[in-house]
Amino acid sequence: MHPSRIFLIGYRGTGKTTVGRLLADRLGWAFADCDEHIEAAAGMSIADIFAREGEAGFRDREAVVLGDLSTRERIVIATGGGVVLRPENREHLLSAGFIAWLMARPETIWSRLQLDPTTRARRPNLTPAGGIEEVRSLLAAREPFYRAIAHFAADADAPSPDAIVAAILTAWPGSLLSPSSSGA
Ligand code: ADP
Ligand code: MG
Repeated sequence: MHPSRIFLIGYRGTGKTTVGRLLADRLGWAFADCDEHIEAAAGMSIADIFAREGEAGFRDREAVVLGDLSTRERIVIATGGGVVLRPENREHLLSAGFIAWLMARPETIWSRLQLDPTTRARRPNLTPAGGIEEVRSLLAAREPFYRAIAHFAADADAPSPDAIVAAILTAWPGSLLSPSSSGA
């Protein structure tokens, strides 16, 4: 595991982009959001990629972007919620960096997704049902994968993004190796 890369994993709406940006600022590191890079490389929104290429097409693009971003150091990378579904992605993440999992309840996630203006373009329904039932069922299905690879599980329900950043930095082994690089 390379402490010079921090990956944020977790369901959509748990705050990976928000917390990732703050964490990178705090460390003086770069920040990359996999979803943004996938959209830039494809020249279309995630919703359009799903519509044209299906989830499999999106996952192929996601694996490529993840590999590209993982060649960089001193970088915080916010991943997509479904990145843990492919075993090769899980193995890759485990070997490439420190993995912090943002955990939140389905109710919290659902209300954040509804309030977030980027949801329409970035977060297409993943099941015909959609809604909070989709959040409940997919979260239950993905949780074992998040849990399996996380080096640290952060409560992302009630705490502020700043408090979540502080919790991650406390758990991150890089702060032990080079305290000055923590920006503290
Ligand atoms: P993700 O990248 O995991 O999908 P985002 O960072 O885009 O999640 O956050 C989704 C929404 O929830 C955004 O509108 C964001 O402002 C809000 N949000 C993120 N983290 C928190 C938090 N800790 N407390 C309250 N709202 C949050
Ligand atoms: Mg995001």
